[in-house]
Amino acid sequence: MKTAELFEHKTVFSLEVFPPKPDADESVIYKTLEELSDIQPDFISVTYGAGGGKNGCKTIQIASDIQNRYGVESVAHLPCIGLSKAQAKNILDSMQENGIENILALRGDKSDNTELCGDFRHASDLIAFIRDNYDLNILAACYPEIHPESRSAVDDLKWLKYKVDCGADHLISQLFLDNGYFYDFYEKARIAGVNVPIEAGIMPVTNKRQIERMVKLCGVELPKKFVRVLEKYEHNERALRDAGIAYAIDQITDLIAEGVDGIHLYTMNNPYVAHRIFDAVQNLISVSVKA
Ligand code: FAD
Repeated sequence: MKTAELFEHKTVFSLEVFPPKPDADESVIYKTLEELSDIQPDFISVTYGAGGGKNGCKTIQIASDIQNRYGVESVAHLPCIGLSKAQAKNILDSMQENGIENILALRGDKSDNTELCGDFRHASDLIAFIRDNYDLNILAACYPEIHPESRSAVDDLKWLKYKVDCGADHLISQLFLDNGYFYDFYEKARIAGVNVPIEAGIMPVTNKRQIERMVKLCGVELPKKFVRVLEKYEHNERALRDAGIAYAIDQITDLIAEGVDGIHLYTMNNPYVAHRIFDAVQNLISVSVKA
């Protein structure tokens, strides 16, 4: 099923996982998926390392297994930076042969190796390439606190609208810790003519290292309320985990009450945390079924 169709009837609840590292025990991800599939999410998306490395095969395999073994819709991420059109075609052909209908088309983060080669400069190039050559549902990323490379919010929105004009059917947002950024972004996106469903990306922050990495990579602001929690519990692993879960539940409750199109939970491959959050919000989601 194409994910864009899910939003016609309900508030969507989806999950994200990443494939195991090349030398890791593969059975762990399958145990994780088994536990996550109990949640019966609307779909599970699988990340893909930028640069077209070999681990991409795992993304395809896992996305295919999510559908075939666990009966859950899947989305395969695909960052295009450093890929030639021929390489992108090979990957997309393989995704299609494996029954994957939904692709999250991304640029990927720049590095010295990837920046100068490849046929795609932006996600919009890949989106147009998929739209011209395949019958696939296309997802794309968006940034409530604007992408760190963008000159301004206006510029960022202009390119987001362009991604939708090139063929993106559904958007998933970068994580944010202050819902105000999402509401502001959502309103401006609608005014700018971005008329596809926009899911809110929520990451339950459960350890300090993760937060530091996230702030550096994504340029996400840490609200005062969040910093207070972090400072109080940073030396108590369990307390910080529970505080991170409570914070995410609070964000989701508010988002659903505001009528968000969907929630995309960055699970960090942690089914315990995902279950605790889902258990707390599942009744809110079921009362949000659209007429
Ligand atoms: P783009 O849409 O190309 O945007 C990048 C920058 O260029 C922005 O500043 C934008 O405003 C500008 N821009 C966009 N289009 C144009 C244009 N046509 N001309 C000029 N400027 C333009 N990375 C991975 O490597 N693997 C993953 O699996 C992965 N999954 C992700 C999932 C989600 C939900 C999100 C939010 C991010 C994910 N990322 C992943 C990270 C993502 O690759 C980075 O954020 C990357 O820096 C930008 O990707 P993009 O697709 O948004 O790029």
